[in-house]
Amino acid sequence: MRFFELRTPHYGAPRVWTGAYQAESRWMLPGVECPTCGETWSGIALAYPSVDLSEHPRRPELEEPGPEPFARYARLVEQLGAWLPPGAQVEPGTTFGPLVGTAQGEFGPLVLRDPWKLLVREDALHALRAARIQGLVPIRAELATLNAPVPALYELELAARGRLHPSCLPAGTAPPCVACGRMSGPMPLDIRLEAASLPSEWDLFRLTDAVTLIIVSERFVDVARSLGPMDVLFHELPVSV
Ligand SMILES: [Zn+2]
Repeated sequence: MRFFELRTPHYGAPRVWTGAYQAESRWMLPGVECPTCGETWSGIALAYPSVDLSEHPRRPELEEPGPEPFARYARLVEQLGAWLPPGAQVEPGTTFGPLVGTAQGEFGPLVLRDPWKLLVREDALHALRAARIQGLVPIRAELATLNAPVPALYELELAARGRLHPSCLPAGTAPPCVACGRMSGPMPLDIRLEAASLPSEWDLFRLTDAVTLIIVSERFVDVARSLGPMDVLFHELPVSV
């Protein structure tokens, strides 16, 4: 099986589609002030739009939260446990619930405004399902339209599964912080995937140690390319044993 990273076109490149959305998730884990690594930080990529926290007892702390001391953050994570999909990876800044906001313009079959967040048009979702693409967890984005109506868009919830191959990490890369999980160091320039870590039964997922990268299978790419032009690039990644 070959694997591909989803990429946005260069910012200066012309786009096929005019669609744009402004939206945020309903709930979010706060950023953290970590006494172990000394960093105050929040991630941007991990999102579980299927998770409904409207009845969660700590809900007010998950609406527009600011950075929290580590102990408070860790307690919140613990109390989220049963509300999350099995095996869900979380970090500071992880979001929950559907996207809520506004949209306008014409959207392509796949929508990748940010490289770490994938939305699909309703007809594209039907095509992916018809092709039995595995790992689809679509949640309809709640987007009010400003002018002409916009077809329904669905955010695809992505589980963190595979890993970078250790050989592509720059020499001296420190392991993640044992307390908050923060990775230090830049993303490798030449990304390789570790073969044994890749889920054979999933056609789309994130990497556990590079959560901003969305990885899709060759099967996914074949279906996506049949859907017509889109402002999404498929960059094949080497896989090493
Ligand atoms: Zn830390």
